[in-house]
Amino acid sequence: MIVVMKPDAADSSIQSIKQYIESFQLQVHLSKGEEVTIIGIVGDKSKLPAENLTSFKDVEKIVPISESYKLSNIKLHPEPTTVSVGNTTIGPGNLTIMAGPCAVETEKQLLEIAHAVKASGATILRGGAYKPRTSPYSFQGLEAEGLRYMQTAKQETGLTTICEVVSQEAIEAAEKYVDMIQIGARNMQNFILLKEAGRSGMPVLLKRGLCATIDEWLNAAEYIIAEGNPNVVLCERGIRTFETATRNTLDISAVPVLKSKTHLPVIVDPSHSTGSYKYVAPMAKAAVACDSDGLMIEVHNDPANALSDGPQSLTFKKFDALCQELKPFAKLVHRTF
Ligand code: PEP
Ligand code: MN
Repeated sequence: MIVVMKPDAADSSIQSIKQYIESFQLQVHLSKGEEVTIIGIVGDKSKLPAENLTSFKDVEKIVPISESYKLSNIKLHPEPTTVSVGNTTIGPGNLTIMAGPCAVETEKQLLEIAHAVKASGATILRGGAYKPRTSPYSFQGLEAEGLRYMQTAKQETGLTTICEVVSQEAIEAAEKYVDMIQIGARNMQNFILLKEAGRSGMPVLLKRGLCATIDEWLNAAEYIIAEGNPNVVLCERGIRTFETATRNTLDISAVPVLKSKTHLPVIVDPSHSTGSYKYVAPMAKAAVACDSDGLMIEVHNDPANALSDGPQSLTFKKFDALCQELKPFAKLVHRTF
């Protein structure tokens, strides 16, 4: 439920409503827009006589939120959220390019890739240190050693960094070495991990589960925010369908759908959604055209010999060409990078 205040409502009116709501052991979330303030009420509202709220001074209207996700809901927070990460931001006006290898393999490999993606325009270096692989016999990642290489790459290039986490232990290690954590598709409904990510307070990139609906995805984001961490960015990375010509099916419509339902930034991963370097550029352009706040793209110094996801990784040359081609698209949607 939200209480929409009249434009220019007095601070004292907002405070007295807040106190009244809190007296029912409910949580209050204030969203102060340029014109109106919205007071969000979260918790068990069964004992709250909501009709009383309409008689408070400066109240415009009371609106119920029917969706189970509240804090990520656009009704509670109509202005788009900007998430600050390291020395960059993800949100309106920016096209944030995250790029790097699927997996951190060696320090030399990571540094070479970090310098190359930075030169082309990426502001966030991605690199997996904990790899949730389909087969237990595939390369599982360098774990803490890989995180330390990410820190070295950050120190050498000034790039902001992101790494996937798969456990509480990985979150604790990531806190020391990188700027943002990623919860991968396979863990989107790992509710314990979501809560731990929420408690960490670190910016979180939450990828869409392989078979997750948008509603389930927003509820997963809600788990993180409900722990007091509002710094959540959503990443569409393709869903499983009957089509086998691509690794997954990129649900590009998820971007405008999400923008109508949530204030959280949304980015697109054209690498995991297509599974082939050939389709990364057209899908990246489609994502920018439909107002994605950013892209996550896999780039490798030697895709043919990559330890994971070589076939979908761009070479430095292809990544650089794509960044150039994206500039006019970004301009059309009033974003810079
Ligand atoms: C990744 O980004 O390295 C990854 C494993 O992605 P996803 O969780 O989307 O499969
Ligand atoms: Mn990958």
